[in-house]
Amino acid sequence: MAWETVVGIETHAQLRTHSKIFSGASTAFGAPPNTQASAVDIALPGVLPVLNGRAVELAIRFGLAIGATIAPKSVFARKNYFYPDLPKGYQISQYELPVVLGGSLTIALPEGVKTVRITRAHLEEDAGKSLHEDFHGMSGIDLNRAGTPLLEIVTEPDLRGAKEALAYARALHALVRWIEICDGNMQEGSFRCDANVSVRKAGDDRLGTRCEIKNLNSFRFMEKAIEYEARRQIGILEAGGSITQETRLYDAERDETRSMRSKEDAQDYRYFPDPDLLPLAISEEETARIRAGMPELPAHKRERYAAQYALPSYDVMQLTESREKADYFERAAAAGAPAKLAANWLNGEIASRLNDAGLEFGAVPLPPEELARLLARIQDGTVSQKAAKDVLAQMWAGKGGADAIIEAKGLRQISDPGAIEALVDGVLAANAKQVEDYRAGKEKAFNSLVGQVMNQCRGRANPVQVNEILRRKLAR
Ligand code: ADP
Ligand code: MG
Repeated sequence: MAWETVVGIETHAQLRTHSKIFSGASTAFGAPPNTQASAVDIALPGVLPVLNGRAVELAIRFGLAIGATIAPKSVFARKNYFYPDLPKGYQISQYELPVVLGGSLTIALPEGVKTVRITRAHLEEDAGKSLHEDFHGMSGIDLNRAGTPLLEIVTEPDLRGAKEALAYARALHALVRWIEICDGNMQEGSFRCDANVSVRKAGDDRLGTRCEIKNLNSFRFMEKAIEYEARRQIGILEAGGSITQETRLYDAERDETRSMRSKEDAQDYRYFPDPDLLPLAISEEETARIRAGMPELPAHKRERYAAQYALPSYDVMQLTESREKADYFERAAAAGAPAKLAANWLNGEIASRLNDAGLEFGAVPLPPEELARLLARIQDGTVSQKAAKDVLAQMWAGKGGADAIIEAKGLRQISDPGAIEALVDGVLAANAKQVEDYRAGKEKAFNSLVGQVMNQCRGRANPVQVNEILRRKLAR
């Protein structure tokens, strides 16, 4: 019987504030160690935390974006543990009463769309960092990151397999940038995921014992780590063993997960409400004010695109992958590009060009209005799809507008039936053998003849007409 991999993801998104969650120190990345650590961040006795209102506002933006409940009252708690980069001896987090409750995120999968339930999202502070290099065999502590505001976003165990987990992580990454609450920079640690993984026999409705994998600082590693971990667990279970619940670390160099520590229970942390901070009260007026300042959300855009442009849902999901891509599409459509054609090009040729160059949609080197002009030339039959790709390559390289390139490169499509007939006649006369093969039932010969016609005219003949004329002539 087949195994099924079950995944739940916890993400730490660094909130885009200038200062820390409980102090006025800067959150800018890359400063020399301990130059951005205030008395509060280094836990001097007698100091008191003061909550950063902007961090709360960004958490509320997230809650609204996923259709969650914004808790009218939430509570900061102390999560107690010892670690050298945590001078207070506890992390301020939210435990029993988080600010964001419930909600969901819709993700695009090749087989359709799926809704992933979000359990909760809570505010907390980041810890500092231990540095183990360049200290003559000793370790150093950098507290610049201590007190950086984080939103921890937790899913229900709704994801099945590494690919779905990856699609979720990408969708969440896109959303937090869309609503401008997190810069999403994974190298700098602004967006970090932990994956909880278990396996079970397909059809079983009980969950298996899970392991939590830490240290997933890229999408690719996340996918590989989950795949490895599922294989490891299946191997143990098939050999008659059982899974121990634990926290594991992914080692990208060896592509394996390793045990880090046995899973700690909530009671180990001795959570209790932080007496230095009042409960966080959020009024409906405040939530309404924040809602009024939100951009149009991906989910709303999707509904609108489906209705306004009659596009299939997978196209729509892809177009709304990022705000830049959606904006680009809308501007191209407004400039007259046929919606389906624009969707195909943005999700196909243009996406793959960006992908090859490691760029994002904000970096497309030609304005949407120029793309619209090229697509109009496909639509009116001036160029074939294939020739249009060559035109795009030129436009991409800054060689001018669509019309000028089509003329300069002689890429205008041949649609004159007489001209195409002459091309076809030439090819038929020169390929008696293939004509005979085709008439003897070899369909492959037909494709070869089409290919030769297209070669003769450097791909410029209208392919639909070539097919038609060729079939007609061969039928005789
Ligand atoms: P903790 O706070 O100890 O990490 P939670 O119960 O909050 O534990 O769960 C953390 C994450 O683990 C959630 O995303 C949840 O969906 C996921 N999870 C819980 N049980 C399983 C399981 N059996 N298999 C996979 N994921 C799970
Ligand atoms: Mg956890």
